[in-house]
Amino acid sequence: MAQDLRHEFVRGGAHVPAFNALRGRCPRCGEGPLFEGFSQIRPHCDACHLDYGFAEPHEGPAVALICLACVPGVAFGVGLETFIQPPLWLHLITSLPLLFLTTIAPLRPLKAYLAARRYREKCLKMTFGKADGTRP
Ligand SMILES: [Zn+2]
Repeated sequence: MAQDLRHEFVRGGAHVPAFNALRGRCPRCGEGPLFEGFSQIRPHCDACHLDYGFAEPHEGPAVALICLACVPGVAFGVGLETFIQPPLWLHLITSLPLLFLTTIAPLRPLKAYLAARRYREKCLKMTFGKADGTRP
């Protein structure tokens, strides 16, 4: 795999992995799907057989989203209830979509972007070596 990544960066393929990943595609070829299900990253690309083991984002983005985005969404709902005391249907059309838009909706693109960044970092390490001048 190391040779594949180095060769890929030299060819210039590492310039578009973020775009490919944001479309839910393989960061290297842009053809194979990156996800199986909603946010589970596949073991490898179906088109170019790139091993997605480098991605391993686990649930880090989900935890970050819950900590960063869910708090303002919940604060909005609590503030709405505290200051306006609207009927339940108003919460259903304001607070619930806001929570969805700030937590669930960006989860997949964020995981894809992190996978693409890891792919690019791996390519750069394979091409230029480590900071101390040694090559892997
Ligand atoms: Zn691929």
